[in-house]
Amino acid sequence: MNVPFMDFSEQYQTVKNEIDAGIKAVFEKGNFILGQEAKDFEDAFARFCGVTYGIGLNSGTDALYLACAALDVDVGDEVIVPSFTFIATALCISYTGAKPVFVDIENETYNLDPEKLKKAMTPRTKAILPVHLYGQPANMQEILALAKKHHIAVIEDACQAHGAAYQGKRVGGLGNIGCFSFYPTKSLGGAGDGGMAVTNDKTIYEKILMLRDYGRTGRYDHKIKGYNSRLDTIQAVVLSAKLKYLDTWNKMRNEKAQLYCHLLKDVKGIGLPQMKKDRTHVFQTFAVRVADRDRVLEGLKQKGVAALIHYPIPLHLQEAYAELNYQRGDFPESERLADETLSLPMFPHISNKQIEYVCVSLKDVVGRKAEGVKAR
Ligand SMILES: *Cc1c(COP(=O)(O)O)cnc(C)c1O
Repeated sequence: MNVPFMDFSEQYQTVKNEIDAGIKAVFEKGNFILGQEAKDFEDAFARFCGVTYGIGLNSGTDALYLACAALDVDVGDEVIVPSFTFIATALCISYTGAKPVFVDIENETYNLDPEKLKKAMTPRTKAILPVHLYGQPANMQEILALAKKHHIAVIEDACQAHGAAYQGKRVGGLGNIGCFSFYPTKSLGGAGDGGMAVTNDKTIYEKILMLRDYGRTGRYDHKIKGYNSRLDTIQAVVLSAKLKYLDTWNKMRNEKAQLYCHLLKDVKGIGLPQMKKDRTHVFQTFAVRVADRDRVLEGLKQKGVAALIHYPIPLHLQEAYAELNYQRGDFPESERLADETLSLPMFPHISNKQIEYVCVSLKDVVGRKAEGVKAR
C-alpha cells in the first residue's frame, strides 16, 4: 500500500463547483486583486477566528512581517521566538532589522516555554512571538500575563493552527495580532500563496491595511513606506469555499489523530503527541517521536509510507542565523525534538485503512534492530 503524506483530492471534489463558478466570476469582472470576494473572505475568516478585523496578504510570512512592522519593531529591538519552528517565524523579525531571541520549547507541547521566556526578557524586548506548533496552541495564559506585565505586544504565529482553541477561544485573537498562512498544504490552503493578519485593534488594522498597499492613504498619497502584499481575489474565492468546511475537516483530522494514538499507544519507542486539556489541537501535523529517526523515516519510505520531518534543524543552529552565535546545547529540548520528530501522513480524508497500514509499518520499523546503523 502507498500512503501519501497529504492528499486533498476528496476535499477538492467537495468545493470544486463553488470554486469553478467563483473563479469564472472573477475573470468576468477582472477584479483580480483585493476584489469584493477578498473583502468577504477577510470578514468571514476574522469571524471564524472570533476577531474584528482581517487583512488579506500575500503569505503567512508577510502577515508576520507586517505584524512586526505595525508594532514598530525596529533596529535595536528584540523579539522572542521559540527555537523550534519554521524559519519564517524568525525571518519576519530579521526583515525589520530587529533581533530574534530564541527560547527553548516545552517538552510536552513543543511550544514556547514560559519559564524560559521569563529569563530571556530584557529592556529591549519589544514583542513575544509564540507559535502554535503542529496545531496545538501555546501556553497563552502565561505568555499574555508576562507580556502585560512588561507592556509589550504578543504576535501569534497561527500559521499551523487555523481553528485551534485555547481555553475556549480561537487562536489569532488571543494576542495583539494573529498571523495565518494559506499556503496550499496548510489546513486552510489556497491555490498558491496567501496569508492573513487578524486583530481586534483598529489602529493596528488601519496600519496593516496601509502597509500592504504601498503605504497608501489615497490613490497617489503615501503616508508611510509600505509594501505590496495583497490577497488575490482568486485565492479568496478558493479559501472562502473551503472555510465553510474547515470545522468539519478539523474534526476529521482530530478523529484520525485519535485513531493514530489508539493504535500506537503503549508501543515501546514511539512518543505520541500530548494534548493539553484546555486546548483544541487541530493536527495540521501529526508528529510522533522516535529514536534513530532517520532510519525509521527510510524504513517507512520503503514500505510506501510518505513521512516528513518538521523540522530537522532548530533555528539557533541554522546557518542563516550563525551571526547570533548560538551553540549546540543551548536549547536541549529543541535539539532533541529535531532529532526525534517524525510527521506521519495526515489529512482529513485519510482512511482508517491507511492509518492502520502506517501504524503497522511504523511498529515494524521501530521494532526492528537498528542493524548496521552507526550510533549517532
Ligand atoms: C507555513 C508557516 C509560515 C509561513 O507561511 P507562508 O504562507 O508559507 O509564508 C510561518 N510560520 C509557520 C509556523 C508556518 O508553518
